[in-house]
Amino acid sequence: MNTSQTYNIKGMHCASCAGIITKTFKKVPGVESADVSYGTESAKLVFDETKTCPEELSKLIEPLGYSLLIPQTAATMGVSEREHGAHLGITPSKKQEKLLEIREMRTKVISVIPLATFSIFVMGWDILAQLHLLNGPNAILDVFFHHLLPILATYTLFVVGKPYLLGLYHFLRYRKANMDTLIGIGTSAAFLYSLIITAFEDVLRPYLNVKHTYYDVTIVVIAFIALGKYLEARAKLKTGDAIEKLLHLQAKTALVLRDGREQEIPANQVLLGELIIVKPGTRIPVDGVVTEGNSFVDESMVTGEPMPAEKAIGMNVVAGTINTTGSFTFKATKIGSETLIAKIIKMVEDAQGSRAPIQALADKTSSVFVPIVLILSFLALAAWLILGIPSLGIAKALSYGLTSFVGILVIACPCALGLATPTAIIVGVGKGAKEGILIKDAATLEKLHHVDTVIVDKTGTITKGKPELTKILNNSEQRDEEIIAILASIETKSEHPIAHAIVTYANAKKITIVPVQNFESIKGKGLKGTIGTTEYFAGNTKLITDLHLSFDEARLLQETSQGRTPVILATKEKVLAIIFVADAIKPEAIQAIKDLHALKINVVMLTGDTKSTAHAIAKEVGIQEVVSDVMPDDKLNKVEELQSQGHIVAMAGDGVNDAPALAKADVGIAMGTGTDVAIETAGITLLNGDLSKLVKAIHLSKITMSTIKQNLFWAFIYNIIGIPLAAGLFYPLFGWLLNPIFAGLAMAFSSVSVVSNSLRLKSKKL
Ligand code: ADP
Ligand code: MG
Repeated sequence: MNTSQTYNIKGMHCASCAGIITKTFKKVPGVESADVSYGTESAKLVFDETKTCPEELSKLIEPLGYSLLIPQTAATMGVSEREHGAHLGITPSKKQEKLLEIREMRTKVISVIPLATFSIFVMGWDILAQLHLLNGPNAILDVFFHHLLPILATYTLFVVGKPYLLGLYHFLRYRKANMDTLIGIGTSAAFLYSLIITAFEDVLRPYLNVKHTYYDVTIVVIAFIALGKYLEARAKLKTGDAIEKLLHLQAKTALVLRDGREQEIPANQVLLGELIIVKPGTRIPVDGVVTEGNSFVDESMVTGEPMPAEKAIGMNVVAGTINTTGSFTFKATKIGSETLIAKIIKMVEDAQGSRAPIQALADKTSSVFVPIVLILSFLALAAWLILGIPSLGIAKALSYGLTSFVGILVIACPCALGLATPTAIIVGVGKGAKEGILIKDAATLEKLHHVDTVIVDKTGTITKGKPELTKILNNSEQRDEEIIAILASIETKSEHPIAHAIVTYANAKKITIVPVQNFESIKGKGLKGTIGTTEYFAGNTKLITDLHLSFDEARLLQETSQGRTPVILATKEKVLAIIFVADAIKPEAIQAIKDLHALKINVVMLTGDTKSTAHAIAKEVGIQEVVSDVMPDDKLNKVEELQSQGHIVAMAGDGVNDAPALAKADVGIAMGTGTDVAIETAGITLLNGDLSKLVKAIHLSKITMSTIKQNLFWAFIYNIIGIPLAAGLFYPLFGWLLNPIFAGLAMAFSSVSVVSNSLRLKSKKL
């Protein structure tokens, strides 16, 4: 049996770490797939539990400086509690750990900044003196600097630069190089060269410029990179705070009715079916159905809908929402990981850790980058020595070669490249969740911005999906009540919104429902059933045509052209009545369609309803292209047809009988109605079924993608310009050679700028 589980990882510093860990895991027998994300610092593993276990996997990466954070799963916990705990307990402690790590980083940065400032000061003085703009430091100061710098560099390299030295160690020991390795080799090479000069100053004096050491490079590069990493870690923490806000929605306690009295218990101990009392102003602890009382509940945190929703007997409430002023009792129907909020949290977490297709390029680049850069740096050093010694002499050639060597290693770090996509995805997915737009994975978010055609289902997407009975055209000798009694009795067995309208009407009129035999629903047309000895049919005109019966077509058209849907009740012999139901248009639909058109997106309405009804509704909301009278399978065909014409198709439906079409579309969008949603079914779920959210989702996709592209540009540009500059390619032409200190600054800046650019997404208006 394969288990799929997501674990947080400790010790990740860069995107190439993700590559190393993925490769290590994939080699293990029993590991089906390993998806490691640097963005969320987690691994999604699918493995055979009989062949391996997370503890074993963690051991494999520990020598490389990483470990899996395995949730504490006491055997005493129930399954649902365990899962509940897994994503409701771990994330906050992961944050605690991260905060500790960041605090440590800050202490180191604070300690190294004065050293770097001092080094830059000495270096600046030296340069100005060489240019004869200033007198050099006097002899005593010179000696002082000369001896102080090595001490400061030793501290910097061995204390602050420890992760990079470890990277170097892992490389030598296990032949695994990550970005820390590059920095490690660069800074320790600079340090070692300088140390040799200091130690053998007198011996080397005839050959080398012994006044020129690289302690300052070691200090300043490490300082900049440590500062950059610190700022990056702080900003990265902020990218994930959408999840944290969702986690805070969990109520801590619940007031349950046990043994006939009210008891306050921890929210995770509520049992299925238990009655829970909700007082004014308190948070709802689990999902359930109201059994007594009524109130208004603020569901904005889950659905994004700002107006509190009315809750009366029989209505759903969900965990995490806040009761306003009334009070009520409800029965727990979903607890732990089954609650909507837990599912949302899991979905957002999974989506944030998932890989966008656009990332493939960056991943590939960074996985080959490290070895290539290593080779390149050695080649540059060799080239300087071979080509440089004859013209510049050994002292200069070696010094320039070393500058190149260190500069390449430092500037070529693809850190920012690894951050470009995931940080934007994390912010984008989180921002969506806040608006009630749930995105299943990064690939969906990416695809959405290519969409040029949106297919919308009529019922439940354009209209409210809550039709009401508006008219009865009675052709029979029976009274209207009798007609409704027959129709409602059959419709009781159907799930269609039309059925709901008829049954609700019958209930309000206190019309008695009678038993029905041989009930059968006729796909895309209606239904049939036997009452007593008579077989009845109810449905659309297609059904009646199938029965070879005729009806008053003019009268029918008169009503349908106003957007009403007919339900024709008939026996095998004759049509008894035509009942009309009307489904009001969602108020936001008109604007949403306008906005979609403004985005140059073609909107097609698809419905099983009659042509004239469909056209009337379409006209009202401004949709030109309508496909009516479609059978459920035709919805799928329509999607395929548009796709074969080269369109990228999004399909929005309520999921009732359009699931295959939703799945076939490039992006399937499920319209959740209020709190009653199945979020696993579609690529995107719009929580309160608001069509204007679709426009927002498309906009979100566009701004996320453009952020990613900007990030990739900024990440690549440093490397593309930096490497040849550092290698000294421009030296023969312009005398340019990149000082490794600037390489360090550029590296720090590129990572920080990428993460900050992603964070900017947060404040953009949707
Ligand atoms: P849609 O979701 O667009 O309504 P369906 O395939 O569910 O598409 O239904 C197609 C048509 O079949 C409906 O528009 C309606 O005319 C008829 N129909 C389906 N179910 C019922 C029902 N329970 N009662 C009456 N008519 C029905
Ligand atoms: Mg439908």
